[in-house]
Amino acid sequence: MARKNTLTDPRFHDEDAARAWFEAARWPNGPNCSHCGSLKHYATKKPGRYRCGEKECRKDFTVMTGTVMERSHAKLTQWAAAFHMAASSKKGFSAHQLHRTLGCEYNTAWFLWHRVREAMRRGGLEPMGGPGKTVEIDETYIGKLDGQVRQQHRNRKGGGGGASSYKNTILTLVERGGSARSFHVASTTLADVMPVIRANVARETYMMTDEASWYRWLGKEFASHDRIEHSADEYVRVEADKIVTTNSVEGFYSIFKRGMRGTYQHCKEKHLHRYLAEFDFRYSTRTALGYNDEERAVLAVRGGDGKRLMYRQPHAV
Ligand SMILES: [Zn+2]
Repeated sequence: MARKNTLTDPRFHDEDAARAWFEAARWPNGPNCSHCGSLKHYATKKPGRYRCGEKECRKDFTVMTGTVMERSHAKLTQWAAAFHMAASSKKGFSAHQLHRTLGCEYNTAWFLWHRVREAMRRGGLEPMGGPGKTVEIDETYIGKLDGQVRQQHRNRKGGGGGASSYKNTILTLVERGGSARSFHVASTTLADVMPVIRANVARETYMMTDEASWYRWLGKEFASHDRIEHSADEYVRVEADKIVTTNSVEGFYSIFKRGMRGTYQHCKEKHLHRYLAEFDFRYSTRTALGYNDEERAVLAVRGGDGKRLMYRQPHAV
């Protein structure tokens, strides 16, 4: 059945409807034990609580057990709304917006916000690219430093470029017609950039970048490397067998930057990887790749499996 992914859907108002939605999203084959993975289970008297049918296990679990939702006292309707907003708002949304939309405590919204982003974070993925595929790489900087610190930075880093005026360097890899992966790197030196690219891109890939010097070595390690000369006002170069451009990764950054500017003015550095995960996730499941808001929300819920957050919560709810 097609579901309306709008805030009028029952799952945003009714706990039973919300639970049914989470169960269908997470367990397409029926409840399976969060402790041992078995599909054998019994219903208990408490709605939504199941008992594992394996003799050695026999543990209780719910749709929240073993996920980013574990041990939360927030309502499932609130979780459903948070997943929905994260999946459907193109430029992202803040904990403040969630707080206003749900009419809940700010602390609750903050907590939901962080955990939903953790669910969107993808780890242990296959390399991007491969034979016949193109990966575009670019970097951007966010978080302007104030004057004095900027000068110190400039002195330390040897000046030049836009990098010295900003706190954070982001490196993004985009497979043309595919997914995006972004990383918060210490700098754009070879030592910081190389390991990330090597670990994430298949060797048979065609690489495309701008003319920045830290990409010089790429041609030696990958199938090919083409550079677009932005400094010469060149943005697309059509050659016999390929189109040289970094328009895909720049398109990613234009969405990312609009989102960061409009919604996340006060992004703390330690949370930056979560923002990146959010934008990578939405880009990698974007409409042009055949996903709709509902499917994106379901994928995010599934991404929350096995990600019970253990770090200390300043605002545990
Ligand atoms: Zn079990």
